[in-house]
Amino acid sequence: MPLSEFELIERYFRDCGHRRGDVILGVGDDAAVLQCPAGAQLAVAVDTLVEDVHFPRGSSAQSIGHRALAVNLSDLAAMGARPAWALLALTLSEADERWLAQFAAGLDALARAHGVALVGGDTTRGSMSVTVTVLGHLPPGRALQRGGGAPGDALFVSGTPGDAAAGLALEQGRLPPCEQAEYLRRRFLFPTPRLALGERLRELASGCIDVSDGLLADAHKLARASGCGVELMAAALPLSAPLLGAVGMPRARELALSGGDDYELCFTVRPHALERLACELPPAEWGYRRIGTLQAQPGARVMDEHGVLEASSSGYDHFAAP
Ligand code: ADP
Ligand code: MG
Repeated sequence: MPLSEFELIERYFRDCGHRRGDVILGVGDDAAVLQCPAGAQLAVAVDTLVEDVHFPRGSSAQSIGHRALAVNLSDLAAMGARPAWALLALTLSEADERWLAQFAAGLDALARAHGVALVGGDTTRGSMSVTVTVLGHLPPGRALQRGGGAPGDALFVSGTPGDAAAGLALEQGRLPPCEQAEYLRRRFLFPTPRLALGERLRELASGCIDVSDGLLADAHKLARASGCGVELMAAALPLSAPLLGAVGMPRARELALSGGDDYELCFTVRPHALERLACELPPAEWGYRRIGTLQAQPGARVMDEHGVLEASSSGYDHFAAP
């Protein structure tokens, strides 16, 4: 017996995520009813994952569930918001119960880890796509923004960018299997949204963006929004040992700069706030590193030991995908 739409929602999505007291009405009615904390502002983001575009056909359903939420939580992290609720619009070509169970498990685990309740959605038949909307809270007027940077601000990135791009290349067979494959594949399949860091940065950073299209392109977006240019130091890029082991040095740098799918935070800090940043968020503990500086001169430049390694007005065009 094929699963009806009603049964599908009941079985997999009614109790998905954290059970929150501020969900007055969740899955099951015509709309969700949510209690906002008094005085808070809402931060809202939506992102769609399309099969063959954002994940290869036949990807692990658990990973698709995780990533669909993670990419949205990463957007809230970049705003310094705390996530609370999510909605899921799911389009499937068939109701495959094994797939659904794994998909829901991936979504559920990440939602619970961050106290997020799934409060509603929509289920339709068609080519597979997954759209998640997240809602989170912010103290009024305190959102981190892309446009808050200024010339002279230090530029930082969290985590080890480039891992996910290598993981995707492994998934797609464009990179031969290697010892580091399991770690790198997981970095693509199960990205970690940097929510705790984003919330702490609200008081410390001048600007912030999450890295989804490649570090250089996204750093350039932040710089442009701030009316600046940006200079990155290639030697300062935080490259993971598995990435270096798998692809070697020049390639690891290229992947870190242009790879995509990292879901790390790229942020700027005013010179006078650097000491406070290091003191309140010790870099070794919080996992971030300084990689450059905003400058008055527009554009994005990557410097290595010999001078300008790459200069571009559009940011990332010259770096080919692996
Ligand atoms: P309606 O036709 O009134 O829009 P639906 O039958 O589409 O209602 O949905 C019934 C309930 O199930 C609603 O509360 C809706 O938010 C929820 N829902 C539907 N699909 C999903 C889903 N994929 N994930 C979570 N909740 C869902
Ligand atoms: Mg209705």
